[in-house]
Amino acid sequence: MTEQPPAVAAPYDILFEPVKIGPFTTKNRFYQVPHCNGMGYRDPSAQAAMRKIKAEGGWSVVCTEQVEIHATSDIAPFIELRIWDDQDLPALKRIADAIHEGGGLAGIELAHNGMNAPNQLSRETPLGPGHLPVAPDTIAPVQARAMTKQDIADLRRWHRNAVRRSIEAGYDIVYVYGAHGYSGVHHFLSRRYNQRTDEYGGSLLNRMRLLRELLEDTLEECAGRAAVACRITVEEEIAGGITREDIEGVLRELGELPDLWDFAMGSWEGDSVTSRFGPEGRQEEFVAGLKKLTTKPVVGVGRFTSPDAMVRQIKAGILDLIGAARPSIADPFLPNKIRDGRLNLIRECIGCNICVSGDLTMSPIRCTQNPSMGEEWRRGWHPERIRAKGSDSQVLVVGAGPAGLEAARALGVRGYDVALIEARRELGGRVRQESRLPGLSAWGRVQEYREAAIAELPNVEVFRESPMTAADIIEFGFQHVLVATGATWRTDGVARFHTTPLPIAEGAQVLGPDDLFAGRLPEGKTVLVYDDDHYYLGGVVAELLAQQGYEVSIVTSQSQVSAWTNNTFEVNRIQRRLIENGVTRITDHAVTRVGVGGVEVTDVYAGAVREIDCDAVVMVTARLPREELYLELEGLRAQGELRSVRGIGDAWAPATIAAAVWSGRRAAEEFDAELPSNDEVPFRREVTQLA
Ligand code: ADP
Ligand code: SF4
Repeated sequence: MTEQPPAVAAPYDILFEPVKIGPFTTKNRFYQVPHCNGMGYRDPSAQAAMRKIKAEGGWSVVCTEQVEIHATSDIAPFIELRIWDDQDLPALKRIADAIHEGGGLAGIELAHNGMNAPNQLSRETPLGPGHLPVAPDTIAPVQARAMTKQDIADLRRWHRNAVRRSIEAGYDIVYVYGAHGYSGVHHFLSRRYNQRTDEYGGSLLNRMRLLRELLEDTLEECAGRAAVACRITVEEEIAGGITREDIEGVLRELGELPDLWDFAMGSWEGDSVTSRFGPEGRQEEFVAGLKKLTTKPVVGVGRFTSPDAMVRQIKAGILDLIGAARPSIADPFLPNKIRDGRLNLIRECIGCNICVSGDLTMSPIRCTQNPSMGEEWRRGWHPERIRAKGSDSQVLVVGAGPAGLEAARALGVRGYDVALIEARRELGGRVRQESRLPGLSAWGRVQEYREAAIAELPNVEVFRESPMTAADIIEFGFQHVLVATGATWRTDGVARFHTTPLPIAEGAQVLGPDDLFAGRLPEGKTVLVYDDDHYYLGGVVAELLAQQGYEVSIVTSQSQVSAWTNNTFEVNRIQRRLIENGVTRITDHAVTRVGVGGVEVTDVYAGAVREIDCDAVVMVTARLPREELYLELEGLRAQGELRSVRGIGDAWAPATIAAAVWSGRRAAEEFDAELPSNDEVPFRREVTQLA
């Protein structure tokens, strides 16, 4: 008798093994860790729909963001969930029910923000281990008060109340939160904040006392009805903060208490590093080795999008569950796609943190890769499904940047015959160009995913190296046209500071990003970048030029270079990188005249003027939509030559890559639809009920 060879496990089977978390068993190892979304208490139904889709896409556990347990933990203006009293339960229940309907276990991250809560809405006194200004997330002119024993007893009772309500709302996993600097537990653990001399301060045992008490209270309150998870800072990455030694001590003492450990960094910024500044799996160096200090399952994150990297985390004994916030935002169906072997169709997170900017600007979450993120409830969009076509119309999409690619893909999925026509040989438009800049290679994923998806659609035909004129389009014969021809960077200085062109001397050497994309570099040695855009590109261009050997300075009217990137957690790292590259930062100034061999800059506050020598100026200012084709086609439509013409993406109004992708998706969603008049609000809202 011949022996059967042992069954060979498929390479990713290990990711689909169940994991026991307290009284529950997961269906696989994919775990959506708690993440903020800018929806919170304001948009609970929208959040419920968003979380449900993740459960549907295969995430075995789906958690809420931090849920403030009490009015003393109010982090207004940021919009998170609340569990202040029973009035909050219907919203929380809706979210838990939705996760269950999607087939996932529902986790709730109970948070008391401690000295991180400025309590600007509630006007309660912030609570901390000591008398210190509120921190780390705000510089509000308020101090926390050192908690008394009574305050600690109150906090424990509020936490118990929140646990009881969480179970009532139907949650399966209840968190004790001690990470990211957003939690009193973190502040008590960290010597940086905790200088108490009572039994809650000093030794590590004392500093972890509050954590122990909250864990014990939570276990007692759950009484086996829900699992207890602990999200804990493993490294604060700041002098005097929580260290490896601290976390190892915590695990030795409390390792067996909760049903799950969720390892996180000491700041959200430290956990959600963009791809420009940190690789996939950046947290490994801080998390590796901790698992062996507990028998309980551990979850951690690392912007994991590669199934091989995930398998390695499990096999190397670093994690039991693959945690994700951003990869689950970019692709809510990532687990199912791995399960079904559709790896080429994973919408890999590009690590841009536009999702984070939603929360930080108090707007509903959005995502560069996943235009349906945040639109699930209010517009009915789904990351994988879209309404079938409503006619046999044929659609011509001009321009294969992010807007055109997404429009062609989504219309193709709907079943229309689509022609996607691109002037260049390469698809991708601006993402292809920008992905060649320092640190931005992951931008290319926006195009790669869409190109792969389009390749599977026989009804979408792609034409390259075909610059189209209006006459070409009429001749092509498709009656519906989407114009996604992008935008051009201006070089006349117009943006925010100057809304009319700057005085530029004849013979001055002035370039824009488009010149650099086309491979044209400045002549000479010294280059001045004038950034009146304030997102990433000015800083990236300065970095690129410095790496090419130029002596570079960058002028900005803001007090930091790339100031808007405070919303993507990059602004501090950008300053550091520019300093490391020898770039001179000239902040609080605008370029007010460009001469030959130098510029005049003006202090934006005091008006003082000075001259700076440079061989060339690179303007990173405003853009102009490439709308000539649109305008011409619209004229032809009015004459009856075409049935419909729509401008999308940067060709309509220059904005982020995320906005261009979204605009392409919107055009595809709205094609052939009966649209309400534009007097109406174009999406569903959840309006506050009067008390
Ligand atoms: P968006 O961000 O709105 O998608 P991009 O600038 O990234 O815009 O992409 C626009 C794309 O359109 C570029 O790849 C460009 O080469 C292409 N394009 C511009 N004009 C034409 C045209 N007349 N015919 C075909 N392709 C065009
Ligand atoms: Fe990833 Fe960017 Fe989407 Fe956030 S917005 S999930 S970082 S692709």
